Amino acid sequence: MMVCIASIFPGVSPVKINIIGGGPAGLFFAYLMARENRAHQIHVHERDPENATYGWGVVFSDVALNFVRDIAPELYSAMTEGQVVFNDMAVVHRNTRVRLANNTFHRMARIDLLKALHRHCRQVGVHLHFNDRRDNPADFADSDLIVAADGANSAIRARLAEHFQPELDERPNWLAWYGTTQKFQALSLIFRQVPEGLAIAHTYQYSPTHSTFLVEVDPETFRAAGLASKSEAESLAWCEQVFAKDLEGHRLLSNNSQWFRYTIVKNRHWYYRNIVLLGDALRTGHPSVGSGTRLAMQDAIALFESACEYPHDVPAMLADFVARRQPGSDRLQLAAIKSTEWYENLGPKLSLEPVEFAYDYLTRSGRVTHADVRQRDPELAAAYEKLHPEAAASLPKS
Ligand SMILES: Cc1cc2nc3c(=O)[nH]c(=O)nc-3n(C[C@H](O)[C@H](O)[C@H](O)COP(=O)(O)OP(=O)(O)OC[C@H]3O[C@@H](n4cnc5c(N)ncnc54)[C@H](O)[C@@H]3O)c2cc1C
Repeated sequence: MMVCIASIFPGVSPVKINIIGGGPAGLFFAYLMARENRAHQIHVHERDPENATYGWGVVFSDVALNFVRDIAPELYSAMTEGQVVFNDMAVVHRNTRVRLANNTFHRMARIDLLKALHRHCRQVGVHLHFNDRRDNPADFADSDLIVAADGANSAIRARLAEHFQPELDERPNWLAWYGTTQKFQALSLIFRQVPEGLAIAHTYQYSPTHSTFLVEVDPETFRAAGLASKSEAESLAWCEQVFAKDLEGHRLLSNNSQWFRYTIVKNRHWYYRNIVLLGDALRTGHPSVGSGTRLAMQDAIALFESACEYPHDVPAMLADFVARRQPGSDRLQLAAIKSTEWYENLGPKLSLEPVEFAYDYLTRSGRVTHADVRQRDPELAAAYEKLHPEAAASLPKS
């Protein structure tokens, strides 16, 4: 576990930190800092009430959750207690389900993650302020450090845009987050071709009773189905009808589930003076790779480690944060962009056999080779090699 210099030398003076945004990024950073030195004055300002949340579940790969375990085993225990873990994924294409083995994802309700973070923050003396919208860093002129963890539409980033130089890339596909009581144990990607076009569901069970059900449609389908002019209830009914076979009589559940387009966020500069961007405010992934919460929490760990390295030199701390975090963050974001593009350009792939289609999905980022597929999922590799014997021939001789 990382230990801060400040806690080794308790005589070092505490710092004052204001964090705008009480999502996973802001709360986890607040917790790590306060746990190390309770004399730090750490305030988190969250615009929403305490128990408000959007979205349903969140997913973490094994690797992602191990980051939390290594630095905060007590939070890891709280996050994994009673958690739903299944090993498989499934791709449904042309009404055929292809299993993708050995893809472990830990899932939990976003609200439970936030509650665990609130509890841990309070235990170490973090001041949590709810119903407290802030968009002006000047409110915190006496802070040593200001953290803008206010999400993908960050108001702080917008206010200081000339310094951060954000690049906002709104993608063409439309998305709506629903929940359902149908239990999709395998994290499932369901492709349904309908008269209006193509609808995709990204779905997984995250609690004993519920699954997240994210629906994605391309602009042509969105137009042909008239989704722009449908009410929330009418859109939900359209999605229920498209995925009726998969839902097997279960309803979709709405939580202010409006259609939205996903924006990929990048920033040329990650900090300005003593103000640093964190989580979605800094850079977004994409829901199709389920990495937003992971990226946010890894940012928090990296900033904490930089604070440990340079406890009383904020410019050095922030420069270290960028050096420490940018390569991994860029790599994951690139994978997320490739994944996004795969979903946006499915037209020519729809004629593929279900096994070929599932294989194409698995290798979409360019980071998974045929040798990897063979190792992780020999059954899928064998089914693919039946259709494409050249794939086996291309393997390096052992
Ligand atoms: C509609 C939607 C649904 C999502 N659902 C899921 C899901 O089900 N599963 C999943 O894995 N990922 C989901 N994501 C992505 C995921 O939530 C993010 O990637 C992740 O939460 C990033 O963490 P964060 O702390 O950086 O930002 P957020 O979690 O967005 O937290 C930012 C916080 O800042 C607060 N805030 C914003 N502006 C201000 C302000 N001016 N003053 C004070 N507070 C402010 C917000 O209320 C919010 O609590 C969803 C994203 C969206 C847009």
